[in-house]
Amino acid sequence: MQTNPTAAETLHADIVIVGGGLVGAVAARALADTGFRIVVIDGTDPRDARDAAFDGRASAVAAASERLLSAIGVWPHLEPEVAPILDIRVADGRSPLFLHYNHEDVDAGPLGYLAENRHIRMAALAALEDTDNVRFLAPLRVEHIERSASGVRATLSDGRTVKARLAIAADGRGSKIRESAGIKTTQWRYPQEAIVCTVEHATPHGFVAHEHFMPAGPFAILPLKGTAERPGCRSSIVWTERAARAKALVSLDDETFLNELAKRFGDFMGEIEVVGPRFCHPLGLQFAHASVAERLVLIGDADHGMHPIAGQGLNMGYRDVAALCDVLGEARRLGLDIGSGAVLQRYQRWRRFDNTLMLAVTDGLNRLFSNDIAPIRHARDIGLGLVDKMPPLKKVLMRSAMGLMGDLPTLMQR
Ligand SMILES: Cc1cc2nc3c(=O)[nH]c(=O)nc-3n(C[C@H](O)[C@H](O)[C@H](O)COP(=O)(O)OP(=O)(O)OC[C@H]3O[C@@H](n4cnc5c(N)ncnc54)[C@H](O)[C@@H]3O)c2cc1C
Repeated sequence: MQTNPTAAETLHADIVIVGGGLVGAVAARALADTGFRIVVIDGTDPRDARDAAFDGRASAVAAASERLLSAIGVWPHLEPEVAPILDIRVADGRSPLFLHYNHEDVDAGPLGYLAENRHIRMAALAALEDTDNVRFLAPLRVEHIERSASGVRATLSDGRTVKARLAIAADGRGSKIRESAGIKTTQWRYPQEAIVCTVEHATPHGFVAHEHFMPAGPFAILPLKGTAERPGCRSSIVWTERAARAKALVSLDDETFLNELAKRFGDFMGEIEVVGPRFCHPLGLQFAHASVAERLVLIGDADHGMHPIAGQGLNMGYRDVAALCDVLGEARRLGLDIGSGAVLQRYQRWRRFDNTLMLAVTDGLNRLFSNDIAPIRHARDIGLGLVDKMPPLKKVLMRSAMGLMGDLPTLMQR
């Protein structure tokens, strides 16, 4: 990885990636293997990612995403920091009926992995260190992008420019690049916010993830690796509440917050303690009306942002990356222009249905479970109990959550 260039030089690349977050940095690493010269620009200082308070979130990394990260050399940097997910237990409030997914029911290893976002970012950056054909420029912003039939020209916040054949917008939900291309979005806010924090517990979690559906939204306990002294004794909490209540809860003093948390957490892992800061994330759904425009592709949250109820937002971003590698790699082999309409349309056709389906599924699950309407509650509890007793259906649902269903891009095949 080469970093800051000197003076007011114009950089020349095949691809300019705007946003080097969890999706953009991985996209750079993956596309570099296809031989492209890449410039990535990211607004945050890479050194900040080392701080435990950098993001605060941990992500469920699906099995298919692990395949991608392994294939492109990011996984060896991340693996020492992850916890495998061996079981998932889904319960609806206080109902005795629940759904239990066990990794032994699918013959593909763990159901997924839990990794802190800062570790994913650092692993991607570490993999880029050895990548000669990627220049990662940060902290810098892309201020402006001009696109034409002949190419792309990005103006950076320090006045320098990057000329490329294709721009990839990986600049998150509020993507200015999407906006400047005139691509509209459909979006709505949920009346919920997610409180995120990390807890230590007296006994190990056994690599089980728990999701309890409460009337205000899901409450998830996600297994983290833990410390060397106390392995398996740390979990990430994603606690969804009505927006005003979530804000009030995060601003409670430490002791009262812990008491409130303990009421939901229960005592099945012994005494708990909150470690590190608490965060509050607004939740919403958003999708772009097109994933491509002239010499531009949207990936990750710049294209689709979803409710974290199923832990799939980042994983869908990684499917975008893997599909894009196939499409652009083939275009390169055939000697085609990687920014041409035909090439970009192929990418859009591939990813559009999958992303829209996941947006609909996560939205539907949130609507179905985040309420306390008695007939709906009874119906969904019976549904959970029935699915639990139908191994073939359970297997399909598990493989789907692991990202192993559908038209898998090459980097996600094994
Ligand atoms: C509470 C919560 C829990 C979640 N849990 C999971 C989970 O378990 N599993 C899962 O798969 N997903 C999960 N998600 C979703 C996941 O976090 C997102 O899908 C993912 O972070 C999107 O990554 P991204 O790189 O596309 O965007 P972002 O993370 O938003 O990154 C965008 C990057 O672009 C940079 N940038 C923006 N504009 C510019 C510019 N003009 N110039 C230069 N750089 C720019 C920013 O600095 C940033 O680094 C969760 C989300 C939430 C809110």
